Order: sequence, then C-alpha cells, then structure tokens
Amino acid sequence: MQGSPPTLEQIRSAPKVLLHDHLDGGLRPTTVVELAAEHGYTGLPTTDPGELARWFVADEPRRDLVRYLEGFTHTVGVMQTTAALERVATECVEDLADDGIVYAEVRFAPELHTDHGLGLEEIVETVLSGFERGMAAAAKRGSPVVVRALLTAMRSAARSLEIAELAVRYRDAGVAGFDVAGPEAGYPPTRHLDAFQLVQRESFHATLHAGEAFGLPSIWEALQWCSAERLGHGVRIVDDISVADDGSVRLGRLASYVRDRRVPLELCPTSNVHTGAVPSLHEHPIGHLRRLQFRVTVNTDNRLMSGVTLSSEMLRLCETFGWGWDDLAWLSINAMKSAFYPFDDRLALINGVVKPGFASLTAQSAFRVSATLR
Ligand SMILES: [Zn+2]
Repeated sequence: MQGSPPTLEQIRSAPKVLLHDHLDGGLRPTTVVELAAEHGYTGLPTTDPGELARWFVADEPRRDLVRYLEGFTHTVGVMQTTAALERVATECVEDLADDGIVYAEVRFAPELHTDHGLGLEEIVETVLSGFERGMAAAAKRGSPVVVRALLTAMRSAARSLEIAELAVRYRDAGVAGFDVAGPEAGYPPTRHLDAFQLVQRESFHATLHAGEAFGLPSIWEALQWCSAERLGHGVRIVDDISVADDGSVRLGRLASYVRDRRVPLELCPTSNVHTGAVPSLHEHPIGHLRRLQFRVTVNTDNRLMSGVTLSSEMLRLCETFGWGWDDLAWLSINAMKSAFYPFDDRLALINGVVKPGFASLTAQSAFRVSATLR
C-alpha cells in the first residue's frame, strides 16, 4: 500500500542518497555574492542574492547546454582560493545534510580552480578538508551524512590522465572515483582512454558523463572502451528501446547490456529539461526506464543552476509520474547499491538507515490513509 502521496517535508526527512552533484553547481547565492566581494570578482550580473538566484535559474528553461554552462563562469570565478573552496565545500555538505541526504558523492574538476595559482593537490586537499568540516558539523546537528569526492576531468582539455592519477592518489583520503564532464559533441570518451585505463589498472572507480545530449555511441564508448561503472545521465539509452503499437517493448543490444548488467543511470531530470536534452519533465524517459527496471537513480546535477534539491526533485517526480514511497525507496536503495563506497559500508547504510527510514515513512502515510478512511 502506497498511502498518501509524499509531501516535500516528508521527503526531506527521508534518508536519501545522491550520486551526481557538482560542487561548482550548488553554491548558495549569498556565498557567490560574498566571495565575489572578498576576492574582487567583478563579473557577476547582479550582487543581489535574490536576483542572482533567479538569474542562475532562468524563468524559461534554457534548453541549451552552452547557455546553461554560462553560470559556471561565475561560480568557478569565485572558487579560486583555498578559503573560498573550503567554504563552498563545507556549505555543500551542510546543505545536503539539511535536505536529509545520508550519503553523497560530490564531483568537481580540480583543473578549473587553478586560475590564481593554486596547485591541483592543494585544491583536492582543501575540498576534502571542507567536506570533513561539513560532515563534522552535520553530525553535531544530528543529521549525519557521508560525503565522498569524485574528481572530474574536462572533456575538452588534455589533463584527464593527470586528474585520474590525482584521484587514485587520494583514494584513501575521501576521493571515491573519477569522472569526465563537459560538452559531449566532438569530444568522445575515448579521447581520454589512457585515463580510464589507469583507473581500471588501479582497481579504482569511474563514472562518465555520457548520453546526456549525445546519443548511443557516447554510451557505448563509455561502457565498452572506458569501462565506466556508471553513466552520468545516460538518458539517451532510450534511443535503443522501441515500443511497438501493441505496447510491447524491445531493447537493442546496448540497452539490454545496460539493464542486464545493472549499469546505474545517474539521471538528473530537471537539469535535462534545462539543458534541452529532454523537452519536459512529463516527457522525461525516467518513467519508462523505471517501469523497465533499469538501475535508475535520481540526482540534482546542479542545485543552483536548476533551482532544485534532491527532495524537490523527488517531489516533482511523484507529482509527474504518480510515484509514491515505494518508488522513492527503490531509487534510494538503487543509489546506495551503486555508490563507490565499500560493500560493507553500503550494506550498513542500506539496512541500518535507508530501509528503516523509508519503512517508517511508508507506515506513517499508510496509517494516515487508514485513519482518514475509518
Ligand atoms: Zn553532471
């Protein structure tokens, strides 16, 4: 029994798991303004935090990845000192904990923070220290969260091998894996093959932005050449799924592989609408992929640019697809199963935190329904 539909407040109290969130896409608008003032960054479109928040989330969906990426010029612009990086990392963890997230992997590209002379190792150590500080603060407030970093290399640059080496070097200090991001068209994943091969040789973890705006070849290269364990987005896998007039569904070889092997899809519905990868939330393939039992996870991508939290994203999915607690629990367990976190620790969170948390919320909502019917 699904009970009454979840409210935003209830979803916020549920123990959720987030695998795809960018550090430079989740700053608080007030922090952007304050850091710009402190560090003499003059490029902001406005210094009013409210207006700035609205500027980041355009009223009309932008439906254009290039325009969407413009916001990062400003966030990255103010993240060029250790003080700024530490603050942003700490606040990120606090914000995720406030949203009821119990485990998160937050990614960032060290190479984007070197404009004022910071070294790559210094950048990684500073962000990890900010995460530690945020986790300590969250635990103290009674909302513990585990946050791990993913190091991202930029598709359009040539530093991926160096970033992969960096990720491996910090694997015991809070880095959980490696990723490649940036515009897909013209930059196939195989350009970074040596980096992925290094990660594989080191028995480390990799995810890869693939199949967001670009289609199946990008997903195929990510999985079969780069050995990515998860797909950042991967939403275009639907191009390999056909539905006949009688409703019967046929999966192509790649879609079958993705489902058979339980390859996690790090889906980011609102972000996909804003970048134009999908026309509307209602038309987002997440509903279809969930019905077909792909290993679906739901993610924020960029909380600032998309104006979302994981809870608000889940609420919108419930409203759009009629989902309830069972679906939200399924998504959260899927995400925890797919985390780059040791098996024992994953099990401990699934059985000790995620399942009991959702079971209790499901029972409460069923109780409310039966009390209403009585
Ligand atoms: Zn992303």
